[in-house]
Order: sequence, then C-alpha cells, then structure tokens
Amino acid sequence: MSRPERNLLLVVDDEVDFLELIEQIGEGVGCEVITADSATRFREQLATRHPALILLDLQMPGMDGIEALRYLARQGINASVLLASGMDQRVLASARQLGESLGLRMVGTLQKPVMLEDIEALLMKHLDPGARISADDLRRAIEEHELVVHYQPKVVRCDSDWQVRSAEALVRWRHPSLGLLYPGEFLALAEQSGLIASVTDFVMTDAIRQLGHWRQRGLELSVAVNLSPKLVQDLEFPDRLNRILREFDTAPEQLILEVTEGASLDDPDLVMDIFTRLRVRGIGLSLDDFGTGTSSLTQLYKMPFNEVKIDGSLVADLGTSKAAATVVRAIVELAHNLSLTTCAEGVETAAQFEFLDQAGCDALQGDFIAAAMPAAEMESFIQVWNGSDHASISAERP
Ligand code: C2E
Ligand code: MG
Ligand code: MG
Repeated sequence: MSRPERNLLLVVDDEVDFLELIEQIGEGVGCEVITADSATRFREQLATRHPALILLDLQMPGMDGIEALRYLARQGINASVLLASGMDQRVLASARQLGESLGLRMVGTLQKPVMLEDIEALLMKHLDPGARISADDLRRAIEEHELVVHYQPKVVRCDSDWQVRSAEALVRWRHPSLGLLYPGEFLALAEQSGLIASVTDFVMTDAIRQLGHWRQRGLELSVAVNLSPKLVQDLEFPDRLNRILREFDTAPEQLILEVTEGASLDDPDLVMDIFTRLRVRGIGLSLDDFGTGTSSLTQLYKMPFNEVKIDGSLVADLGTSKAAATVVRAIVELAHNLSLTTCAEGVETAAQFEFLDQAGCDALQGDFIAAAMPAAEMESFIQVWNGSDHASISAERP
C-alpha cells in the first residue's frame, strides 16, 4: 500500500466541463489536480499516482461507479473518496455505505449540480490539514507533549543474513482533533516559525533516551535522526547535541544524522565545519534522499558523509525501469568506491529486497520490512525478525 501524495486530487468524470471546474477550484485551494474521463484513464492514473482524495462520478459511460469502488478496494488504494452524482441522495448514500463496507475511506457525497462553495469546503476539509494548523498550535503541541516519535527498523547485511541493527526516528503529531499528522503536514510550518530546533531537540532527546532503554533490554542499536537543512547551519547545534548525548551517557557512534543534499549548499564552508566536527566526534552522517531532484555528486566526495540513502522513488521504479536498476547499481558501486555504505529506503516488495540484496546494498528500510512504529513495539519486532532467517527472501514475509 502506497502513501497518498499530499494534496493530490483525482477527479473521475466524463463531463469535461465538470473536470475543468474542479481543476480550477482545486488549484485555487492548493491541490494538484489530475483527471480521468474514462475507465481506462482511471486505472492508468492509479497505476502511477497516489491521490490523497478521489472525487468519483457514480455514472460514467463504460464504467459503473460501484465497480470503480470495488476496483479501489481490490487495489488497496489508500485515498479518501468523495462520491458525486446527479442521482438522488438515497442512491448516493447507499453507494457510500457500500464503499465503507469494502473498507474504503468514504468522506462524503456531492449531489450534482454542485455548489462551488460546497466543493471548495470539502476539498479544504479533506486535503490539507496543514492549512488548519498554526505556529501557535505547534508551539502548544510541543509544550503539551503531543509530538511522538515512531521508529522504522533498518536491516543491515550481516554475513549472508539481514538483521535489525538500527532504526530511523520519524516524528508524528498526535493532534487532538485532526488525528495523527505526518511530518509532511507540519515540518514546513516548524521551519517557517522557528520551531524546528525545538522539534528536533525533542526527537533527538527521545531517540537518545530510547537507545539507553534498548541497551538496558540487551538491544545494541543505533538510531538515525533527520536534521532539517536550517539546523545544519546552526552553530549551536553540535553543542546542544553533545549535551543530550552526555545526559543519557550515549556513545556518539550510536547516532546517525540524516541530511538532505540541498541542505549543504547555502554556505558550504560553514556546513563543512559543522559536519567535520560531528564526524570527528564519531557521529554518523547520512546523505538522505539521494537520487532526487537536488542530487549533487559533489556532496558525496566533498562532505564527510559515511552513508548514502538511496531515495524511495528510485527503489519504487526498480521493477518497471531498467534505467532505475542501472542507476541504483551504479550508486552502490560509486558509494563503495568512496568508502561509503548504502541504505535503500522505501523497500516495499520482496522483489525490490532481493534486487537490492544482489546489488550489494548494505542496509534496507521500508514497509516490506516494517513501517515506522511506536518504540514499545520495536523490541518484539526485532526478536521476531532477528530470530528468523532472511538469507534468501522469498515472496513471503517471515
Ligand atoms: P525520510 O527521512 O526520507 O524518511 C522516510 C519516509 O518514508 C518516512 O516518511 C517513512 O515513513 C516513509 N517510508 C518508509 N518506508 C516506506 C515505504 O516502504 N514506502 C513508502 N512509500 N514510504 C515509506 P515520513 O515519516 O512521513 O517522513 C517524511 C520526511 O519527513 C522524512 O523523509 C524526513 O525528511 C522528514 N522527517 C521525519 N521526521 C523528522 C524529524 O524529526 N525532523 C526533521 N527535520 N525531519 C523529519
Ligand atoms: Mg531520513
Ligand atoms: Mg529519505
């Protein structure tokens, strides 16, 4: 199951005027809008994109809306679904009920002809929780401990097997009325409002405290924490980090900082200074999301990274693109020639796992192994995973 793309709306309708109208309204409220005017186009769109919201017309020539709902359920599409139709409310309501019984997230119905304001309100409601949170909310959330850290296990090649040796700390916000919010929904706000240092200090403290807890339970792990580009250039950051490490009596070697490539570009001398000091102390530095837009090979040899994270978008293309496979193999080889280790993220299938194993990747992370989970669940996951044999991953999970 793939994660929905934030603010991506798919409109399925055979009336071109209606598609154009929704496109306009959607873009006005900050969505990316993609459309389908036929069953074929509907399936094509879903093969490559992961909408957060689908606005589906129940009656289309050549496609029965109910069959479309079944298709969404069969494919495990993880989007919110809004139904639209010119039929009466009762038909819409029973279609909605059917969608719910198929396990779909049915979020509403729209009776045609639709009111502009109704569509706008529905889109705002279902697409962008980020638009409804403010810096004050976030400040309060930090004070009232609404932020939580989930951990995603990372497996590392050990002889011919793969063992959990590490975890990536990923922040979430348990919002009292909006539910669990993901970093994509509030990190930009944290950066703009100057709260990112507090968020990171919280995540860092939680992760380092957690290391001590796991150590007491006999688990020797390392933990990776994401560092916002803003903080990479904060000269006080290394000192704050040292204080946290000392407070919890943790070896710097157990901490890896993940930074994205773009981060290192603004003031390369300053960043080099900070990175080198961190590395000298033994802290690991990982170049995150390698292979995406801002890639710069220069970063790889100029900055003192010791790990490269191959971006999930490259991993996702492995099965369908020979070129992606070639690029991934080349990254692994290049990294090894530079004495860097490689970690592939977003591993979702056995086939991807096997390919990356063959390609010589050193560490793997992704939903195929496990999605991010509360710290309390890590211990039993590690017991099960590390107690099984993964020398050759078959199509079945352990
Ligand atoms: P990232 O560092 O590249 O983290 C990997 C993201 O991919 C995570 O999303 C993770 O949940 C998701 N993921 C893991 N396995 C799979 C998979 O198999 N398939 C797919 N499709 N996705 C998978 P998440 O937690 O939403 O985090 C998004 C980004 O937010 C992270 O990307 C990271 O850049 C940033 N982030 C997360 N926590 C923090 C934090 O504490 N501080 C800062 N500064 N950034 C953070
Ligand atoms: Mg990361
Ligand atoms: Mg990444």
